[in-house]
Amino acid sequence: MSEGVIHTASCLCGAVKAEIVTSPKWVAHCHCPSCQKATSAAFATYAGFDAAAVNFTAEAPKAYKSSPGVKRRFCPKCGSPVSFEGETWPGEIHLHTGFIDEADDLEPTGHVYTRTQKPWVKLADKLPTFEKFPRDEE
Ligand SMILES: [Zn+2]
Ligand SMILES: [Zn+2]
Repeated sequence: MSEGVIHTASCLCGAVKAEIVTSPKWVAHCHCPSCQKATSAAFATYAGFDAAAVNFTAEAPKAYKSSPGVKRRFCPKCGSPVSFEGETWPGEIHLHTGFIDEADDLEPTGHVYTRTQKPWVKLADKLPTFEKFPRDEE
């Protein structure tokens, strides 16, 4: 690991790799329909970083514009989801925690978009839940 690197990241096949030089600003689960489709899963777990702190060090991930102002990146070889970037979060990149190697210490602090949470997902972590995004409810 290079000097100053706190986390490394890699996709399922290892073609896309990243080095991260800061701790995340936040970690949270998202239950929105777009994340459910993008991951083919019940919800997505993200760690939000300053975009400048994340350096892709191998093959560049591909980007897909999933909605206006939103870019989702994925591995061009294995298709694993890598990140989310939205104009609502300027200067941030949200990495899927599954992309980050050794993410056990990245503990989420909440669930957003629970109004579209799958009814069979039973949350027992006692974390705060938000119907939408906290900032939408101000
Ligand atoms: Zn891959
Ligand atoms: Zn989402």
